[in-house]
Amino acid sequence: MAQRLGRRDLYLRALLHRGNVLSREGDTVEAGRIAHRVYAEAAEFGDSYLLARSHHSLSVFFYQVGDLANSLAHAVQCMTSTNTDTPPSIRARHIMALAVMLDETGATEEAAQRFDEALTITTALGDGLMTLRVLNNMTYGAYEQGDRELAETLADRIRETARSHGLPVQATSLDTMARVWMMSGRYAQAENELAPLWDEASAHLLDVGYAMVEALITAAEAQREQGAFDRAQRTLDRAVQLCADRDLPGFRAQTREAQALLYAAAGRYREAFEEHRRFHSDTQALQSAQREARAQTLHAVYEADEARRSSDTFREMAYRDALTRLHNRRYVDELLPRLLAAAGQGVLSVALLDLDRFKRINDTLSHHVGDLVLQQLALILLRNTPAAATVARLGGEEFVILLPDLDATAGQQAAETVRQAVAEHDWTPITGGLPVTASIGVTTIVDGDATAAASLAAADRNLYAAKHRGRNQVCTDPT
Ligand code: GH3
Ligand code: MG
Ligand code: MG
Repeated sequence: MAQRLGRRDLYLRALLHRGNVLSREGDTVEAGRIAHRVYAEAAEFGDSYLLARSHHSLSVFFYQVGDLANSLAHAVQCMTSTNTDTPPSIRARHIMALAVMLDETGATEEAAQRFDEALTITTALGDGLMTLRVLNNMTYGAYEQGDRELAETLADRIRETARSHGLPVQATSLDTMARVWMMSGRYAQAENELAPLWDEASAHLLDVGYAMVEALITAAEAQREQGAFDRAQRTLDRAVQLCADRDLPGFRAQTREAQALLYAAAGRYREAFEEHRRFHSDTQALQSAQREARAQTLHAVYEADEARRSSDTFREMAYRDALTRLHNRRYVDELLPRLLAAAGQGVLSVALLDLDRFKRINDTLSHHVGDLVLQQLALILLRNTPAAATVARLGGEEFVILLPDLDATAGQQAAETVRQAVAEHDWTPITGGLPVTASIGVTTIVDGDATAAASLAAADRNLYAAKHRGRNQVCTDPT
C-alpha cells in the first residue's frame, strides 16, 4: 500500500512537471487540466508538497487565462502549503511567483518585499539560474510599471549576475532587457541585446522554444521601429517556423499580430488587414478554449476544496467530545498505542481522573450545573498540563491525561498539579458552596512495555485506590 501510494506520488509529480512544460510551451488549456487534476488528488491525500506545487501551477494557469484574482488566490494558498519541509529552491520559486502576482495586481511594495526574500534565498543557495529568474521578473515588473530608472538598474544586475556565475543570459531575460532599451526608444541597442538569438554557438544555451519565440517577436519589433522591414520579416519568419516545429499555437497568434503591424509599417495595408483578421480569429479560438478550461478548473478546484473541508470537519468531529471539545475515547484509542510505540526506549505516564461525588452535584443542583462543572474542568485540565500532554474525556466525569516523556516522579507531580488546580479553583459561581475535587490514578510505562488496555487498567486500579483512601488525592503504581 505504501509503495503504491509512493508511486502515485511520483506519478503526480511527473504529471505536474509535464503540465509546467506544456504551460511554458503555450498549451495553457491542457496545463490547467493537469494542474487541477493533481490538485484534487493532493487535496485528498493531504500531501502538502503536491498541494503547494499544484497551487503554483493553478496560479500560473489562471494568470495565463487572464484571471488575476484566482491567480493571486492560488499564489497565496501555495505559500500557505509551502512549509519548512519544502526545499529552499522551490520555496524561493513559490515566493517569487507570489511576488509576480502581487506586482501584477498593483501591490508593488508587498511584491518588492517578496522579491527580496526570494533573492536572499537564491543568493544563499548560490543558485545563479534562479537568481537570474528572480531578477528577470523584477525587471519585467519595473518595465510594465514604466519605471525606467529601476528597470535599467535591474537589467545591469542581470548582466552582472550572469557574468559572475559564468551563465548565458536566457532568452526570457534578453527579451526583458531589450524591452528596457525600447523604453527610451533605443531600438538599435535592443536589437543588439538580442543578437545571441542568432548566434549558433549560444542559441542552444538559451531558453526553450516559447521564450525564443517571444524574444524573436521583440527583435522584430525593434527592427521594424528602425525601419529595417526586411530584417524584421526574416526574424518573424523564423519565429513562425519555430511555432510550427514546436507546436506553439498561443505564440503563433502573437506572431500574426506582429506580422500585421509589420505589414502596416511597410504600407501594405491590405495584407495587414488580412493578417490582423487571422490573428483575431486565432485569438478568439484560443480564448474560448481557455474560457472553457477555466470554468472546468474553477469547478473542480472548488469541489476538491469543499471535499477537503468537510472531510476535515468530519474527522475533527469524530475525535472530539461535544460537551467539552476535548478529545474523546476514540482519539485516545488511536493515539495511545502510537505513544507507547514511540516510548519504545523512553517513558510515558498515563493519568486517569474521576470527579469526587459528582452524583451529588447533579442531584442537589442540576444536570445542567453538572455539565458546566465538566466544561470548566476541561479548561482547568488544559491550562494545568504540559504542552505535550493530551487531555481527553473518556466518558461521564472520567478524563485521561497522556504525559509523554514523564517518568513516575514527573507523572505524579503533573497529576498533583492538576488535582490542586481543581480543588483550589473558585467553583462558587457554578456550584454555590459545593466543593469540586478529583481523584487521580497515575501509571508509568517504561520502554513502551505495555498495551494500551493494560496501561489504562493500571491507571484505573490506582484511581480506585485514590477513591478508597478518601478521594481528592493522587495514587501511583505500588512499589
Ligand atoms: P465517586 O467519587 O465515587 O466517583 O462518586 P461519583 O458520584 O462521582 O460516582 P460515579 O463516578 O459513579 O458517578 C458519576 C456520575 O456522573 C453519574 C452521572 O450522573 C454523572 N454524569 C455522567 N456523565 C455526565 C454528564 O455528561 N453530565 C452530567 N451532568 N453528569 C454526568
Ligand atoms: Mg465515574
Ligand atoms: Mg466520580
